[in-house]
Amino acid sequence: MIFDLHSHSTASDGVLSPPDLVSRAAQQGVNVLALTDHDEIRGVFAARAAAAEHGIDLVAGVEISVTWSGRTIHIVGLRVDPEHPVLLEGLRCNRSGRRDRAQRMADALAGAGIPGSMAGACLLATNKELISRTHFARFMVEQGYVKNMKTVFKKFLVRGKPGYVSHQWAALADAIDWIHAAGGVAVLAHPGRYEIGKEKMALLMAEFKELGGEAIEVVTGSHTPDQVPVFAAYAERYALQASVGSDFHAPGEGGRELGRLAPLPAHCIPVWQGW
Ligand code: AMP
Ligand code: MN
Ligand code: MN
Ligand code: MN
Repeated sequence: MIFDLHSHSTASDGVLSPPDLVSRAAQQGVNVLALTDHDEIRGVFAARAAAAEHGIDLVAGVEISVTWSGRTIHIVGLRVDPEHPVLLEGLRCNRSGRRDRAQRMADALAGAGIPGSMAGACLLATNKELISRTHFARFMVEQGYVKNMKTVFKKFLVRGKPGYVSHQWAALADAIDWIHAAGGVAVLAHPGRYEIGKEKMALLMAEFKELGGEAIEVVTGSHTPDQVPVFAAYAERYALQASVGSDFHAPGEGGRELGRLAPLPAHCIPVWQGW
């Protein structure tokens, strides 16, 4: 069985529509796919219909942006009720700040000699409530300012760079509560990507567990092979289950292909145990 429990569609910053994403996952041999768009769940209805046609299982999911200890982290919710009012209201609230944030990013980029990025990013975003840094990055690559996605983030879109603006997302406790209200399980996404030391990572794990978080991503497109055993050990130490996901966004953009994932280390308890 191939599980891929983290992916994006045009409902957020992916480039494939939910049905096209599901179709690609089926082609790649994925058996169980979670659609986990940023702060948005509306893609799962079309994805679910397509999954039934392709004979794969679609897990309704979401990836919630959270501000924790002054930095952005991501919490994935799996097996959520996509119509639950508490979750929908929380996501709406998280999305509502994005347009103003995008305008601030565009102003900052204009100051750095890159005009027109608000209109450019907006044109590339299918869901106009969900303009992300990825859309700005694609615009800048398309316009030839930077050669690829990796470089555009490194030079412009991360903290300390000219196109980065700070933003207040949901609180960790709220994100976990919305997921639980909607009957889902909360998964700390790609922990290896947060540039925090061991002490802060221990605080994050402890707080996530204390607030009722169930799992962490151990195998993800964002982890290097040597990070897998490190986060498998965290999962064990904090009695958290382990999840697996590509974080696929687009063919040929440099990220991981759907379903192309290493197996979980043997001592991990898979988040899908008991599903
Ligand atoms: P946002 O939610 O607007 O802050 O955008 C976050 C998204 O930007 C992530 O989900 C990734 O898709 C993308 N992203 C962040 N860092 C990088 C990076 N270094 N390279 C490529 N994409 C990135
Ligand atoms: Mn993304
Ligand atoms: Mn993420
Ligand atoms: Mn993601």
